[in-house]
Amino acid sequence: MSNHHQVLIIGGGSAGLSVASRLRDLDDPLDVGIIEPSEDHYYQPIWTLVGGGVFDKEISRREEAEFIPDGAEWIQEAASEFQPEENAVVTDAGNRYTYDYLVVAAGIQLNWDQVKGLAGNVGSHGIASNYSYETVDSTWDALRHFKQGNAVFTFPNTAIKCAGAPQKIMWLADHWMRKQGIRDQSNVVYAAATGGIFGVETYARPLSKLVEERDIETHYSVDLVEIVPEEKKAIFEQIEGGDQLVIDYEMIHVTPPQGPPDFIKESPIANEDGWVDVDKYTTQHVEYPNIFSLGDCSSLPTSKTGAAVRKEVPVTVENLLSEMRGDALGAKYNGYASCPLVTGYGRLILCEFDYDGNPDESFPFDQAQERYSMYALKKYGLPEMYWNGMLRGRM
Ligand SMILES: Cc1cc2nc3c(=O)[nH]c(=O)nc-3n(C[C@H](O)[C@H](O)[C@H](O)COP(=O)(O)OP(=O)(O)OC[C@H]3O[C@@H](n4cnc5c(N)ncnc54)[C@H](O)[C@@H]3O)c2cc1C
Repeated sequence: MSNHHQVLIIGGGSAGLSVASRLRDLDDPLDVGIIEPSEDHYYQPIWTLVGGGVFDKEISRREEAEFIPDGAEWIQEAASEFQPEENAVVTDAGNRYTYDYLVVAAGIQLNWDQVKGLAGNVGSHGIASNYSYETVDSTWDALRHFKQGNAVFTFPNTAIKCAGAPQKIMWLADHWMRKQGIRDQSNVVYAAATGGIFGVETYARPLSKLVEERDIETHYSVDLVEIVPEEKKAIFEQIEGGDQLVIDYEMIHVTPPQGPPDFIKESPIANEDGWVDVDKYTTQHVEYPNIFSLGDCSSLPTSKTGAAVRKEVPVTVENLLSEMRGDALGAKYNGYASCPLVTGYGRLILCEFDYDGNPDESFPFDQAQERYSMYALKKYGLPEMYWNGMLRGRM
């Protein structure tokens, strides 16, 4: 085991593994080390369908070892400190690793304790969340036992991964209740810190129509601050003014507050908001040219999704290689992100857009319409593309 690598990657998630695969696939493969503590790797986008009872959660999990590219070294430790002036990273095991180039891809941190009464209570008292492997079963449990009353779906006042996920599960719940014949004795409530249903106008229009047609009660610009589990009460604060809104619930799906991982936030490579401070087009660090960052932990002002990662990876790799050769960085990421917005069982609006909120679509038809074909893409096509293509550095 070497303590020095030509390229050291922090995080073997969607972004880290994809970058590693590409660097090992070169005609002249680079010496790559991956610092990643987890035994398992998760395909997180499928958790929406797991929460909706479509799949068992096991479908989302594979062994990390299966995806560490041949010849790369897996350092099964957690990074805890960056020493960019010395080209070094220290881990929680107290080891110090040095590098020529560093790629930071450690994902986003879930901050369950930022909502009073939430941590430790997901899975009981009607509280559910699709946001982790440990809790995702709680959603289907809550939904299939739901008979009547308020079903509440929240969106926190922070950056989150997959900004569509908080409402995707709401649409599935609405559809499920209709199929069970219990929708007229239930109230579906979307309570979000955002100012509207979706940030991109092209897709906000059809989604607002669905909100009306499907009789969803919406509360915007509100932030969940407390849950009182024993009383099944959710307490929100208006973002402007701080007035309280209390909603009783039978079930509540919580999207937890999220933010940059603490070890990044407190490091010299972070910007003032705690994300790794990179150029939004090249993914290169603004101060340390031998550091790149992509995915959820980076400052790239895109929608934090695996789809965005898929487009960031080739840009990062190409620019990293240019930097090594001393060439100008030519590859540019345009902010592409995608949100396969599940609007029910067998229905999906495939939102794809760039930094400016302009549609950047893949198909020659109106993607703002609900379609079964796009649902099938999410259910069957995208997981295949992920496991066999993206993580292997092929797409
Ligand atoms: C419910 C849900 C639904 C989603 N739906 C979609 C969707 O439909 N479409 C879509 O494109 N995206 C979706 N996403 C988002 C997508 O999963 C993420 O944006 C994507 O995984 C980000 O990749 P990443 O590599 O930045 O982070 P991750 O894939 O999360 O990987 C981060 C890695 O860093 C590791 N790590 C953490 N701390 C350390 C440390 N100290 N040292 C070293 N390693 C560390 C972690 O163990 C992990 O392996 C969804 C996410 C969720 C939770």
